[in-house]
Amino acid sequence: MFFFQRKPKCPNCNLELQTRPSRKENCPYCGDFILVRHGKLVTEEQAKVMDWLVRLEIFGVTRRDFDRQREALSKQFGNRASVNDTVWRILNNLILRLGKSSVLLEQVYREMASLASNEGKDPTQYLIQAKKVGGRFQNASAIPQKQVFLAHDELRYIRQLRKEGKIDKADALLLKAEPTPAVLDELRKNASVKARNAKKDGDWVAVVKHLESYTAYAQKWRDFCVKIVKQEPPAHTESDFKLLHYAKERLTSNTISQINTSLNQD
Ligand SMILES: [Zn+2]
Repeated sequence: MFFFQRKPKCPNCNLELQTRPSRKENCPYCGDFILVRHGKLVTEEQAKVMDWLVRLEIFGVTRRDFDRQREALSKQFGNRASVNDTVWRILNNLILRLGKSSVLLEQVYREMASLASNEGKDPTQYLIQAKKVGGRFQNASAIPQKQVFLAHDELRYIRQLRKEGKIDKADALLLKAEPTPAVLDELRKNASVKARNAKKDGDWVAVVKHLESYTAYAQKWRDFCVKIVKQEPPAHTESDFKLLHYAKERLTSNTISQINTSLNQD
C-alpha cells in the first residue's frame, strides 16, 4: 500500500528515516528526540503539549485554549512562551475561574505540583494547597497529620534531589507525605545513602542511627501500608542490613541502647 511505502520523516529536521521509530529515540541526522503519539511521529515539544492536553481535559481546556494562551503569553514575553509557562498560566487562570468551592481545585494544585517537580522546583507549597482544598472531600483513609500526597512526578523530583546530594531537603518533603510504600522506599534509599556516607567517616553511631530511624519510621506506618495498600513497608537491602550489623559490632551495647532510646523519642 502507498501509505506504508512512504518513508517516515523526522518531525524535527524533516529528513527521511530508514526505519520508523516505535518509541522515543534520537534522530540519526539531527540528534533530536522523535516520539510517538497516537501512531504519529512528533517532536518532544509536540508530545509534551499533547500529554498536557490529556491532563487538562478534565478542566475543559481545549487545544484552542492552549494555543490562544500560548500566543497571548508569547506576545507578553516578546518571545515564544514555553509549554510549561503556558500550562502554568492556564492552571493559575483555572484557580480564579473555578472558585474556592470547586471539587477540581485540588487537582489543579496537584498539576501545579507536578509541573514544579518536573522543573526541579520544590512542589511542597502546591501539595499543601491541594491537601487544604481537598480536605473537605477527603476519604477516610487520609492521614490527618500527613499533609501531602506524593505522586509520580514528585517522587522523581525526590530522586533528583538525592542525586544532587540534597538528602535533607528530600527527607523533609517525604516526612510530610502520606507514608505509602513508594514514599517509604525513597526514605529507605536516603537512609542508605546517609549510612554509607557515615561509614566513609567511620561514624558507626551515625550509620546505626540512619538505618534504624528508617526501620522505626516504617514500623510506625506499617499498619497504614498494610491496610490501605496491602503491602509491607520496604525493608532495608541485604547489604544495608550487613552494614548495620557491622556498625553495631563496633559499638558497645550501651551506645546502641542509647541510640534506640533517642529514636523512640522522635
Ligand atoms: Zn531529525
